[in-house]
Amino acid sequence: MRAHLLVRISLPILLILGACHDGKPRGPNVILISIDTLRADHLGCYGYGRATSPNLDRLAREGTLFEQQVSSSSWTLPAHAAIFTGLSDSGHGCTDVDKALEPRFETIAERFQSGGYATAGFFSGPFLHPAFGFGQGFDLYADCTSYGKALDAAKPVDWAKDDATRKASHEDIANPRTFEAFQRWFGARDDKPFFAFVHFWDVHYDFTPPAPFDTRFDPDYTGWVDGKNFFFDERIGPSMAKRDLEHLIALYDGEIAWTDTYLAKIRDELERAGVLDDTVIMITSDHGTEFFEHGWKGHRTTLYDEVIHVPLVIRYPPSIPAGLRVTAQTRSVDLAPTLLDLCGLGELRDVSGTSLLPMLRDPVLRTGSGMRAISELDSVGRSLLSVREQRWKIIGDRLRATARSFDLRSDPGEHRPIEDPASPIVTAGGQALEAAGAELSRFAELHAGASAGSAPPADVKRHLDDLGYTGQDAPPRDGKR
Ligand SMILES: [Zn+2]
Repeated sequence: MRAHLLVRISLPILLILGACHDGKPRGPNVILISIDTLRADHLGCYGYGRATSPNLDRLAREGTLFEQQVSSSSWTLPAHAAIFTGLSDSGHGCTDVDKALEPRFETIAERFQSGGYATAGFFSGPFLHPAFGFGQGFDLYADCTSYGKALDAAKPVDWAKDDATRKASHEDIANPRTFEAFQRWFGARDDKPFFAFVHFWDVHYDFTPPAPFDTRFDPDYTGWVDGKNFFFDERIGPSMAKRDLEHLIALYDGEIAWTDTYLAKIRDELERAGVLDDTVIMITSDHGTEFFEHGWKGHRTTLYDEVIHVPLVIRYPPSIPAGLRVTAQTRSVDLAPTLLDLCGLGELRDVSGTSLLPMLRDPVLRTGSGMRAISELDSVGRSLLSVREQRWKIIGDRLRATARSFDLRSDPGEHRPIEDPASPIVTAGGQALEAAGAELSRFAELHAGASAGSAPPADVKRHLDDLGYTGQDAPPRDGKR
């Protein structure tokens, strides 16, 4: 493991909002945990039939669970940039592998750092590498991958398309390394309040959990699926036998159950140190994963709910109610504003998100429709924009100028696009899509340099169309390249 030590000059502590007269900030500690590729609907506390998440379920009982949390995108890079900044993807502009979160954007880590907090980040996936700007504001930003040297040695645009690097990331088992790095830092920290970001990777494919999690949910299977080579193996396609797909999903669930044990380890660390109830624990994910619900596997291909509906749990007994379930819709851009609000560190300027604390205090707000969620995908030859409300959703394809609307009450799986152009959902969706486009353009202008819904040039588009598909990170429907 290598550490990236970043030096920052903090503002004079006495000027900081939330500072005490003894010069020390008084806010609570914060741990933001991102479990990569974690679908909300595969968790016990979200109603899943398998016991994949007893430790998350416990934290949810001790804190508040948000039932309808929506990510800004369906892959790691833009989704984490939105979590870190509170900006929509068009606002932060960090939408593809040739872009990075520019220093002019204020991240949540920078705000905590300037607020007098000790800040540390532990990442275990390639798209959180500091080359993408994610190290901003961290005293320590630690690479917990096993292949970090390869990432450091080349430009992201090169390794992001390199099959060997991608294979290394798919095969990496990073949970122990990530937790141990956190544990070492936690044990050696001083008495300042801290902001820690902990990113767990192993729920992301490949799906190869260690024993006993490899056989926990499907012990009798005797077929060929072993969870390895998910991305490249052409046999893992929409025409694979149902029984084999079931086993693949059981292995995904095994990864979740294994990663869930690390939530208990972190909780134990806090408890042993006597700071459990003085620490805000926020657990979420950047995106989900597809198992051919719409013909595709993995993520970074669509904006259906299997890739944008993610979990959100917050535990902090002094101000977060225990056992509460918020049914109103919430978004990844709301996370940074919420954490800063909880810690008395003010607001981020001109962001898309808003603090969720008023929702916790007001039963009308937390059972209402909540926030309109905009999600985007501008990568691997796609340019998609979705708007999701509690009751409906529209997904627009910006390259093909088409859109599909869904009634989430009667069709939560998004399998029956509404054909009737006079349907109120189609009308509302079309208006919402237009309004979202205008809002994103406004944010892109406000944060000049970011590009809203940038489409590839016409000649590139033709090339993509000729191929029928062009992804660098997304296998075609039949699993063939
Ligand atoms: Zn991810």
